[in-house]
Amino acid sequence: MNGHKLTEIKIPNELLPTDGRFGSGPSKIRSSQIDALVSASTHLLGTSHRQEPIKKLVSSVREQLSEFFTLPDTWQVLIGNGGASLFWDAATFGLISERSQHYVFGEFSSKFAQAVSLAPHLSEPIIVESPAGTAPIIKTAQGSQVDTYCLTHNETSTGAMMKLLRPNQPADALVVVDATSAAGSIAWSTDEVDVYYFSPQKGFASEGGTWIALCSPKAIERIESIAKTKRWCPASLDLSVALKNSKANQTYNTPSISTFVLLNNQLTWMLENGGLDWCVSRTTSSSKHLYDWAEQRKFAAPFIVNPEFRSPVVGTIDLIGVDANDVNAVLRANKIVDTDSYRKLGRNQLRVSMFPAVEPTDVQKLTACIDFIVEAIS
Ligand SMILES: *Cc1c(COP(=O)(O)O)cnc(C)c1O
Repeated sequence: MNGHKLTEIKIPNELLPTDGRFGSGPSKIRSSQIDALVSASTHLLGTSHRQEPIKKLVSSVREQLSEFFTLPDTWQVLIGNGGASLFWDAATFGLISERSQHYVFGEFSSKFAQAVSLAPHLSEPIIVESPAGTAPIIKTAQGSQVDTYCLTHNETSTGAMMKLLRPNQPADALVVVDATSAAGSIAWSTDEVDVYYFSPQKGFASEGGTWIALCSPKAIERIESIAKTKRWCPASLDLSVALKNSKANQTYNTPSISTFVLLNNQLTWMLENGGLDWCVSRTTSSSKHLYDWAEQRKFAAPFIVNPEFRSPVVGTIDLIGVDANDVNAVLRANKIVDTDSYRKLGRNQLRVSMFPAVEPTDVQKLTACIDFIVEAIS
């Protein structure tokens, strides 16, 4: 069917979800967050980030994050500008002492490994790779002085999640986790992790351009001890500078205030509804529906074969005998957007994000819409 005809297919109103945003980031922002932004318009937006009102807002975000993740009192919430990608660079300067081990199973985990292997001041990292569609099993690095293990909780490019486990050797190694799409949607334990970092435009329904890193005392110690060495580090990437500023509810340079307003409102909403447990029950319910549906359809199958590795938050569904581009074109023409597969994965696939902000009933509506489209175009 040609593109013109596809976009003329009208999905009946009763099948449509209440909200058509299923993208993996930026992701759906709830309308009451926008209301919060509007009510912040005169006393927060457009005011100095060095004054009390913004410090209070940043403090509220940091406190709500600590509560949401039940962080021990000894942990610190660090905040900086630039997003998770920038945090990779900051980590190459301020977290890895000498050598890291990376678990690579998709685009995001591979980008961090790449950044580290190009850093002239670090030893060649050890890369443990598993094919797209699978998740790595953590192994203690043998016979090599690894000081930092780099994990990715949820590989957003493939929809595979990994279990977070602390390797037992060496005892002082850090476990640093890219949780950009997992944070707020998948449970984890602070016993297994030293740094849990993410950007707020995914599970926390805010905007891009900020990074947040939850840091254990061991991680703080590492940041401070690297800062004491004379190793060169640009100020904007310096985690010891970020630590000092974050403790004062500040950022090194000017942050996006609207990002914090949206994030603060989303955290309050998540906590009021029951916190991380409630969020996990929502993503679990949404994703169970999606995977069950795909298994029952002749034209669809979950990309992640092993159910243990299937992400509860980013679902990847291969299509068989139907062109995913056609399905996406019809969805988009009906205002259901961003269900495209990760571009570099190159599969005939739909990718559906099911962050806590997404209504599980809307995921059910989405699959009903796909059934309708497949019927109409085949
Ligand atoms: C989106 C994403 C990133 C990149 O986040 P930015 O905010 O764009 O820098 C990194 N890692 C994972 C797992 C992601 O999903």
